[in-house]
Amino acid sequence: MENIRVVVNGAKGRMGQETVKAVEAAEDMRLVAACDLADDFVEAARSAGADAIVDFTVPSVAMENARRIMETDCAGVIGTTGFTAEDVEKLRGEAERREKGILIAPNFAIGAVLMMRFAAEAARVMPDVEIIELHHPGKVDAPSGTALKTAALIAEAKEKAGLGTAKPVGEGQAPRGMVVDGVCVHSVRLTGLLAHQEVILGGEGQTLSIRHDTISRASFMPGVLLGIREMVKRGGLVYGLDSLLFE
Ligand code: NAD
Repeated sequence: MENIRVVVNGAKGRMGQETVKAVEAAEDMRLVAACDLADDFVEAARSAGADAIVDFTVPSVAMENARRIMETDCAGVIGTTGFTAEDVEKLRGEAERREKGILIAPNFAIGAVLMMRFAAEAARVMPDVEIIELHHPGKVDAPSGTALKTAALIAEAKEKAGLGTAKPVGEGQAPRGMVVDGVCVHSVRLTGLLAHQEVILGGEGQTLSIRHDTISRASFMPGVLLGIREMVKRGGLVYGLDSLLFE
Protein backbone atom coordinates (compact mmCIF):
# COMPACT_ATOMS: atom_id res chain seq x y z
CA MET A 1 0.00 0.00 0.00
CA GLU A 2 1.16 3.53 -0.75
CA ASN A 3 2.28 5.78 2.09
CA ILE A 4 -0.32 8.12 3.58
CA ARG A 5 0.59 11.66 2.50
CA VAL A 6 0.28 14.00 5.48
CA VAL A 7 0.19 17.80 5.90
CA VAL A 8 0.83 19.19 9.38
CA ASN A 9 -0.70 22.60 10.11
CA GLY A 10 0.69 24.55 13.06
CA ALA A 11 3.97 22.75 12.37
CA LYS A 12 6.12 25.32 14.20
CA GLY A 13 4.20 24.92 17.45
CA ARG A 14 4.92 22.52 20.32
CA MET A 15 2.44 19.86 19.16
CA GLY A 16 3.09 20.53 15.46
CA GLN A 17 6.82 19.89 15.83
CA GLU A 18 6.17 16.62 17.67
CA THR A 19 3.70 15.57 14.96
CA VAL A 20 6.18 16.34 12.18
CA LYS A 21 8.73 14.05 13.90
CA ALA A 22 6.17 11.28 14.44
CA VAL A 23 4.91 11.36 10.84
CA GLU A 24 8.46 11.36 9.49
CA ALA A 25 9.27 8.34 11.67
CA ALA A 26 6.13 6.39 10.68
CA GLU A 27 6.88 3.74 8.04
CA ASP A 28 3.47 4.03 6.38
CA MET A 29 3.39 7.86 6.17
CA ARG A 30 5.09 10.63 4.30
CA LEU A 31 5.20 14.27 5.42
CA VAL A 32 4.32 16.30 2.31
CA ALA A 33 3.99 19.76 3.86
CA ALA A 34 4.66 21.45 7.20
CA CYS A 35 2.56 24.63 7.33
CA ASP A 36 2.20 27.42 9.85
CA LEU A 37 0.83 30.99 9.98
CA ALA A 38 2.48 32.17 6.76
CA ASP A 39 1.23 29.24 4.65
CA ASP A 40 -2.02 28.26 2.97
CA PHE A 41 -2.40 24.66 4.16
CA VAL A 42 -5.33 23.94 1.83
CA GLU A 43 -3.26 24.98 -1.17
CA ALA A 44 -0.29 22.98 0.14
CA ALA A 45 -2.48 19.88 0.60
CA ARG A 46 -3.93 20.20 -2.89
CA SER A 47 -0.64 20.70 -4.67
CA ALA A 48 0.99 17.82 -2.75
CA GLY A 49 -1.97 15.46 -3.34
CA ALA A 50 -2.26 14.94 0.42
CA ASP A 51 -4.44 12.26 2.05
CA ALA A 52 -4.63 13.76 5.54
CA ILE A 53 -4.25 17.11 7.30
CA VAL A 54 -3.34 17.29 10.99
CA ASP A 55 -4.20 20.57 12.72
CA PHE A 56 -2.60 21.76 15.97
CA THR A 57 -3.06 25.53 15.85
CA VAL A 58 -5.04 27.87 18.15
CA PRO A 59 -8.64 27.69 19.41
CA SER A 60 -9.57 30.99 17.67
CA VAL A 61 -9.10 29.38 14.23
CA ALA A 62 -10.14 25.81 15.10
CA MET A 63 -13.59 26.04 13.49
CA GLU A 64 -12.38 27.92 10.43
CA ASN A 65 -9.58 25.40 9.87
CA ALA A 66 -11.98 22.46 10.28
CA ARG A 67 -14.20 23.95 7.58
CA ARG A 68 -11.19 24.58 5.34
CA ILE A 69 -10.05 20.97 5.76
CA MET A 70 -13.51 19.95 4.54
CA GLU A 71 -12.96 21.97 1.35
CA THR A 72 -10.26 19.42 0.46
CA ASP A 73 -10.51 15.67 -0.20
CA CYS A 74 -8.28 14.99 2.79
CA ALA A 75 -9.01 13.30 6.08
CA GLY A 76 -8.75 15.70 9.02
CA VAL A 77 -7.13 14.94 12.36
CA ILE A 78 -7.76 17.92 14.61
CA GLY A 79 -6.14 18.27 18.01
CA THR A 80 -6.74 22.00 18.35
CA THR A 81 -9.05 22.64 21.28
CA GLY A 82 -11.85 25.19 21.61
CA PHE A 83 -14.74 23.42 19.85
CA THR A 84 -18.11 23.76 21.56
CA ALA A 85 -20.64 20.90 21.46
CA GLU A 86 -22.63 22.97 18.91
CA ASP A 87 -19.53 23.41 16.72
CA VAL A 88 -19.01 19.63 16.69
CA GLU A 89 -22.65 18.98 15.76
CA LYS A 90 -22.51 21.55 12.93
CA LEU A 91 -19.37 19.92 11.54
CA ARG A 92 -20.82 16.42 11.98
CA GLY A 93 -23.64 17.26 9.55
CA GLU A 94 -21.21 18.70 7.02
CA ALA A 95 -18.80 15.74 7.38
CA GLU A 96 -21.42 13.07 6.65
CA ARG A 97 -21.11 13.43 2.90
CA ARG A 98 -17.34 13.08 2.89
CA GLU A 99 -15.38 10.07 1.68
CA LYS A 100 -12.62 10.66 4.22
CA GLY A 101 -13.34 11.38 7.86
CA ILE A 102 -12.70 14.14 10.36
CA LEU A 103 -11.45 13.32 13.85
CA ILE A 104 -11.67 15.96 16.57
CA ALA A 105 -9.88 14.72 19.67
CA PRO A 106 -9.47 16.93 22.75
CA ASN A 107 -6.81 14.52 24.01
CA PHE A 108 -4.70 12.09 21.99
CA ALA A 109 -2.98 10.53 25.02
CA ILE A 110 -4.34 7.01 25.41
CA GLY A 111 -3.96 7.17 29.22
CA ALA A 112 -6.06 10.34 29.30
CA VAL A 113 -8.77 8.65 27.25
CA LEU A 114 -8.79 5.81 29.80
CA MET A 115 -8.90 8.33 32.69
CA MET A 116 -12.02 9.93 31.15
CA ARG A 117 -13.66 6.55 30.63
CA PHE A 118 -12.92 5.31 34.16
CA ALA A 119 -14.16 8.63 35.62
CA ALA A 120 -17.47 8.34 33.76
CA GLU A 121 -17.83 4.72 34.90
CA ALA A 122 -17.10 5.63 38.53
CA ALA A 123 -19.56 8.57 38.49
CA ARG A 124 -22.42 6.13 37.90
CA VAL A 125 -21.85 4.87 41.44
CA MET A 126 -20.18 7.92 43.05
CA PRO A 127 -22.04 10.90 41.54
CA ASP A 128 -20.35 13.65 43.62
CA VAL A 129 -17.40 14.59 41.44
CA GLU A 130 -15.11 17.50 40.64
CA ILE A 131 -12.31 17.96 38.11
CA ILE A 132 -8.96 19.68 38.56
CA GLU A 133 -7.04 20.17 35.32
CA LEU A 134 -3.46 21.42 35.46
CA HIS A 135 -1.45 22.74 32.50
CA HIS A 136 1.61 24.74 31.46
CA PRO A 137 1.06 28.53 31.45
CA GLY A 138 1.31 28.71 27.62
CA LYS A 139 -2.07 27.00 27.27
CA VAL A 140 -4.51 29.65 26.03
CA ASP A 141 -7.87 28.02 26.73
CA ALA A 142 -9.43 27.18 30.10
CA PRO A 143 -10.97 24.87 31.08
CA SER A 144 -9.09 22.40 28.89
CA GLY A 145 -10.86 20.49 26.14
CA THR A 146 -10.18 17.31 28.10
CA ALA A 147 -11.94 18.69 31.18
CA LEU A 148 -14.95 19.74 29.09
CA LYS A 149 -15.11 16.30 27.51
CA THR A 150 -14.72 14.55 30.89
CA ALA A 151 -17.57 16.62 32.36
CA ALA A 152 -19.78 15.77 29.38
CA LEU A 153 -19.01 12.03 29.74
CA ILE A 154 -19.71 12.13 33.49
CA ALA A 155 -23.03 13.93 32.91
CA GLU A 156 -24.00 11.39 30.24
CA ALA A 157 -23.05 8.44 32.49
CA LYS A 158 -25.02 9.89 35.42
CA GLU A 159 -28.06 10.49 33.24
CA LYS A 160 -27.92 6.91 31.90
CA ALA A 161 -27.69 5.64 35.49
CA GLY A 162 -30.86 7.59 36.32
CA LEU A 163 -29.09 9.86 38.82
CA GLY A 164 -30.45 13.35 39.32
CA THR A 165 -28.61 16.48 38.28
CA ALA A 166 -27.97 17.88 41.77
CA LYS A 167 -26.40 21.34 41.70
CA PRO A 168 -22.81 21.49 42.99
CA VAL A 169 -22.46 23.01 46.46
CA GLY A 170 -21.60 26.73 46.21
CA GLU A 171 -22.35 26.93 42.48
CA GLY A 172 -21.71 30.39 41.07
CA GLN A 173 -19.04 31.35 43.62
CA ALA A 174 -15.78 32.00 41.77
CA PRO A 175 -13.58 29.88 44.06
CA ARG A 176 -15.75 26.86 43.26
CA GLY A 177 -14.52 26.88 39.67
CA MET A 178 -16.57 26.78 36.49
CA VAL A 179 -19.59 24.49 36.36
CA VAL A 180 -19.54 22.41 33.17
CA ASP A 181 -22.43 19.99 32.64
CA GLY A 182 -23.11 20.11 36.37
CA VAL A 183 -19.47 19.35 37.30
CA CYS A 184 -17.14 21.89 38.99
CA VAL A 185 -13.94 22.27 36.95
CA HIS A 186 -10.84 23.98 38.39
CA SER A 187 -8.01 25.12 36.11
CA VAL A 188 -4.39 25.52 37.24
CA ARG A 189 -1.81 27.18 34.93
CA LEU A 190 1.70 26.85 36.31
CA THR A 191 5.30 26.75 35.09
CA GLY A 192 6.67 23.22 35.37
CA LEU A 193 3.41 21.53 34.47
CA LEU A 194 2.66 19.95 31.08
CA ALA A 195 -0.87 18.44 30.98
CA HIS A 196 -2.48 16.73 33.96
CA GLN A 197 -5.98 16.02 35.18
CA GLU A 198 -7.41 14.64 38.38
CA VAL A 199 -11.02 13.59 38.75
CA ILE A 200 -12.02 13.35 42.43
CA LEU A 201 -15.14 11.40 43.35
CA GLY A 202 -16.50 11.65 46.85
CA GLY A 203 -18.62 9.22 48.84
CA GLU A 204 -19.47 8.80 52.49
CA GLY A 205 -16.15 8.69 54.40
CA GLN A 206 -14.09 8.17 51.24
CA THR A 207 -12.75 9.70 48.04
CA LEU A 208 -11.51 8.15 44.83
CA SER A 209 -8.97 10.04 42.67
CA ILE A 210 -8.39 9.14 39.05
CA ARG A 211 -5.37 10.98 37.72
CA HIS A 212 -3.53 11.17 34.43
CA ASP A 213 -0.17 12.89 33.89
CA THR A 214 1.31 13.72 30.51
CA ILE A 215 5.05 13.61 31.04
CA SER A 216 6.06 14.35 27.43
CA ARG A 217 4.26 15.47 24.25
CA ALA A 218 5.39 12.16 22.72
CA SER A 219 2.44 10.68 24.67
CA PHE A 220 0.03 12.19 22.14
CA MET A 221 1.65 10.72 19.04
CA PRO A 222 0.38 7.09 18.99
CA GLY A 223 -3.15 8.58 19.14
CA VAL A 224 -2.42 11.08 16.33
CA LEU A 225 -0.99 8.34 14.08
CA LEU A 226 -3.94 6.04 14.83
CA GLY A 227 -6.28 8.92 13.93
CA ILE A 228 -4.55 9.47 10.58
CA ARG A 229 -4.63 5.74 9.71
CA GLU A 230 -8.32 5.40 10.60
CA MET A 231 -9.71 8.63 9.16
CA VAL A 232 -8.33 8.06 5.64
CA LYS A 233 -10.44 4.87 5.56
CA ARG A 234 -13.85 6.28 6.60
CA GLY A 235 -16.22 9.24 6.14
CA GLY A 236 -18.09 11.25 8.77
CA LEU A 237 -16.99 12.91 11.96
CA VAL A 238 -15.56 11.19 15.01
CA TYR A 239 -15.34 13.12 18.28
CA GLY A 240 -12.83 11.78 20.78
CA LEU A 241 -10.17 9.11 20.42
CA ASP A 242 -12.20 6.73 22.61
CA SER A 243 -14.55 6.16 19.68
CA LEU A 244 -11.62 4.70 17.71
CA LEU A 245 -10.12 2.74 20.61
CA PHE A 246 -13.30 1.09 21.89
CA GLU A 247 -15.57 0.66 18.89
P1 NAD B 1 1.60 26.38 20.12
O1 NAD B 1 1.22 27.78 20.46
O2 NAD B 1 2.94 25.87 20.55
O3 NAD B 1 1.50 26.17 18.54
C1 NAD B 1 0.48 26.67 17.73
C2 NAD B 1 1.07 26.88 16.34
O4 NAD B 1 -0.02 27.18 15.46
C3 NAD B 1 2.08 28.03 16.26
O5 NAD B 1 3.22 27.61 15.56
C4 NAD B 1 1.31 29.10 15.50
O6 NAD B 1 2.17 29.93 14.73
C5 NAD B 1 0.40 28.26 14.63
N1 NAD B 1 -0.79 28.94 14.14
C6 NAD B 1 -1.58 29.82 14.78
N2 NAD B 1 -2.60 30.20 13.99
C7 NAD B 1 -2.44 29.56 12.82
C8 NAD B 1 -3.16 29.55 11.60
N3 NAD B 1 -4.26 30.28 11.43
N4 NAD B 1 -2.72 28.75 10.60
C9 NAD B 1 -1.61 28.00 10.76
N5 NAD B 1 -0.87 27.97 11.88
C10 NAD B 1 -1.29 28.74 12.91
O7 NAD B 1 0.43 25.47 20.71
P2 NAD B 1 0.48 23.90 21.04
O8 NAD B 1 0.88 23.71 22.46
O9 NAD B 1 1.23 23.19 19.95
O10 NAD B 1 -1.07 23.53 20.98
C11 NAD B 1 -1.80 23.69 19.79
C12 NAD B 1 -3.27 23.32 20.04
O11 NAD B 1 -3.34 21.93 20.36
C13 NAD B 1 -3.92 24.05 21.21
O12 NAD B 1 -5.29 24.26 20.93
C14 NAD B 1 -3.78 23.05 22.35
O13 NAD B 1 -4.76 23.22 23.36
C15 NAD B 1 -4.01 21.76 21.60
N6 NAD B 1 -3.48 20.55 22.22
C16 NAD B 1 -4.20 19.42 21.97
C17 NAD B 1 -3.74 18.22 22.44
C18 NAD B 1 -4.54 16.98 22.12
O14 NAD B 1 -4.16 15.87 22.54
N7 NAD B 1 -5.64 17.10 21.37
C19 NAD B 1 -2.57 18.14 23.18
C20 NAD B 1 -1.86 19.30 23.42
C21 NAD B 1 -2.31 20.51 22.91
